[in-house]
Amino acid sequence: MSQARHATTFVYQPLQTRVIFGSGTLARLSDELERLGVRKALMLSTAGKEPQARAIALTAGDRVAGLFAGAVMHTPVGVTEAAVALARDLDVDGLVAVGGGSTTGLGKAVALRTDLPQIVIPTTYAGSEMTPILGETSGGIKTTQKSARVLPESVIYDIDLTCTLPPALSVASGMNAIAHAVEALYATDGNPVLSMMAEEGIAALARALPCIVLNTRDTDARSEALYGAWLCGMCLGAVGMALHHKLCHTLGGSFELPHAETHTIILPHAVAYNAPCAAEAMARIARALGRSDAAQGLYELAASLGAKLALRDIGMPRDAIEHAADLSVKSPYWNPRPIERGAILQLLERAWSGSRPQPNESASAHAQL
Ligand code: NAD
Repeated sequence: MSQARHATTFVYQPLQTRVIFGSGTLARLSDELERLGVRKALMLSTAGKEPQARAIALTAGDRVAGLFAGAVMHTPVGVTEAAVALARDLDVDGLVAVGGGSTTGLGKAVALRTDLPQIVIPTTYAGSEMTPILGETSGGIKTTQKSARVLPESVIYDIDLTCTLPPALSVASGMNAIAHAVEALYATDGNPVLSMMAEEGIAALARALPCIVLNTRDTDARSEALYGAWLCGMCLGAVGMALHHKLCHTLGGSFELPHAETHTIILPHAVAYNAPCAAEAMARIARALGRSDAAQGLYELAASLGAKLALRDIGMPRDAIEHAADLSVKSPYWNPRPIERGAILQLLERAWSGSRPQPNESASAHAQL
């Protein structure tokens, strides 16, 4: 297997978020609020996580003044406005978001409008807490922006909170995290530090997820998966994403497909598409997976974990493929291999039916960049 090439020109800009990681770290919430000078925080959660959020609020004594348990997928602006109104009514001076990417998204959206400091306590592997990216929906349209103002001041990773994540959600969320690292490995604005994090993040999740499927309360595996998710989140936050994320945003936004599951299904196919033009990244992905081929390795990993492998099984109608291909080639993200509608259509057809990823013949015309 080829060794990593040493980059000669790059920019490295670490994020400023403070990270506390471990088991039982939730007990540090009160200290962390104090460190940030927060005396009256608003806690955020989904409706389903409300009891847990209430219990966590109690651990922070009187430093949590209220709870907004209305976080939902895709960060609708109406929900954010309701949370901002409550923050203003309660005159809070900080935010605590407990949950997956949906709750983290709400915290970021409120922070954007109020400049309140945030502590995020992630309970999935989505990685949003490590990115300056905010996606919001209004009138059925999703827009994404990047702003340092949405970055949390502190993130408390407590592996104990992830032990309740069911196997299927753990797998989809973990594969979603792997996708961030995969695209960082061929990003045009990548750097050697990030590539190390990406490879380590993929390897950690690939090792941990099979153990989690066997035993969701395997704390060593949970620890390794959350560590991997943190690394993958940093990858997403630091560089531009490519074809895979473009396809997932298009499919998620236009056909309301579930976020993490869509990532799981598309990833092996997007990697196969890019393989002819990103040899070094493919070698690193394969090495991290402990397999000989990156795309086949990702497909086999997802299959072995019992993940859904077909877009048709998560609600995508067959007759939507052509439209999805049209949308995907419109204003494409930078990608190592040029975007060709015919090849994207084939990719989507394979992803729709759940068949193995295939190298695309026309790709052989493109040389390694
Ligand atoms: P999610 O936050 O919607 O959570 C999925 C479900 O799992 C919810 O019902 C939630 O209550 C439940 N859940 C969460 N943690 C749990 C736990 N430990 N135990 C049991 N149930 C639990 O899903 P997600 O995949 O974490 O996040 C998806 C959202 O995050 C999408 O809207 C996506 O666009 C966004 N996202 C944003 C970024 C970014 O950088 N801006 C990055 C990744 C994802």
